[in-house]
Amino acid sequence: MDLYEYQAKDLFAKHGVPTQSGTVVHHHDDAHGAASDIDNMVVVKAQVKVGGRGKAGGVKLAKTPEEAVEHAQNILGLDIKGHTVKKILITEASDIEEEYYVSFLLDRSNRNFLAMASVEGGMDIEEVAATKPEALAKVAIDPIDGVDLAKAQEIVAAANFPADVADKVADVLVTLWQTFVNEDATLVEVNPLVKDPAGNILALDGKVTLDDNASFRHKDHEALVDIEAEDPLELKAKEKGLNYVKLDGSVGIIGNGAGLVMSTLDVVAYAGEKHGDVKPANFLDIGGGASAQVMADGLDVILGDEQVKSVFVNVFGGITACDAVANGIVQALNLLADSGTPVTKPLVVRLDGNNAAEGRAILKEAGLEIVELVDTMDGAADRAAELANA
Ligand code: GDP
Ligand code: MN
Repeated sequence: MDLYEYQAKDLFAKHGVPTQSGTVVHHHDDAHGAASDIDNMVVVKAQVKVGGRGKAGGVKLAKTPEEAVEHAQNILGLDIKGHTVKKILITEASDIEEEYYVSFLLDRSNRNFLAMASVEGGMDIEEVAATKPEALAKVAIDPIDGVDLAKAQEIVAAANFPADVADKVADVLVTLWQTFVNEDATLVEVNPLVKDPAGNILALDGKVTLDDNASFRHKDHEALVDIEAEDPLELKAKEKGLNYVKLDGSVGIIGNGAGLVMSTLDVVAYAGEKHGDVKPANFLDIGGGASAQVMADGLDVILGDEQVKSVFVNVFGGITACDAVANGIVQALNLLADSGTPVTKPLVVRLDGNNAAEGRAILKEAGLEIVELVDTMDGAADRAAELANA
């Protein structure tokens, strides 16, 4: 789960990362009071889960509460890269002498954690990485050792932080690492981390991604979920206990086992290149015990996606054999028809593995018009893509 800036800053404050506190408001009228509470200049910041708000006009400085209201009025409702601004953060403005970049993240390709740091913060860090890679230090973090003061100093040295801020930045890095580990994050990023004229180091922005797989040990993270901003289909899937991720394409995918579903996404994307570049519409792993109810729930969620034009059911029978899955599909289609939402979009089914022949026989016997059986995974992917493009 990605957090809003104000939520990220709350976690920073909890772990001792220096940052300004502020007030979140949903209406411009409330900006006046929030700004009046702060003696200094304030900054009005769009709260959307996307970067580059500054460039998009979503970050404005205000000298007076009236000016804050004016900015709030302009920023609320603004569309920033497809995200509508529904709340803003009003926070004390800092004078900026220098802007830095620091982050910790899960480095999947190296199966490790990684620290990144640069004294050229403030701007798009991808751009720094692309145009001036030597300005972005990358330091591997041993997951067992973590980041102590010595490691933090190593990161600071690798990024060539000026001597006058080196110790302070190292201290901040240690607290930022505490945030990363203790909150089970996969990313904590500060851009910019600034030095003010008094020499204080402060996180002016914050980006945090929490590891949903660890949510069971963070009951307090539940409160960070923004139901309004969640994808309604993903919300529905979550309620039904389905392992579903919405994607942008038009071929719905159901499979059993995460590995099989991942490779199904690949073959569908590949097959789609020949059929108007159609793409997978989702990831959905129905797991081992593919009961009729789970199959019905899965189809219900997938077909709730208006972009879906065809569905590819890809099952490799194991402990749950293909005949059980075939019965599940037949019953699921009946369940959906009975509940007044009959399936009308084509279903391409590939059954392989344990009792595949029996499973196919069951589906043939059922004589379902919308169901098409294809024996191979590639063949089924091709057909599903073709149908989605029809
Ligand atoms: P982003 O564009 O979404 O990354 O939003 P940021 O929070 O990083 O803000 C963008 C830019 O606005 C920063 O790089 C700063 O240059 C500027 N900015 C943000 N907060 C302040 C502040 O308190 N004082 C000043 N002077 N500038 C700020
Ligand atoms: Mn930023």
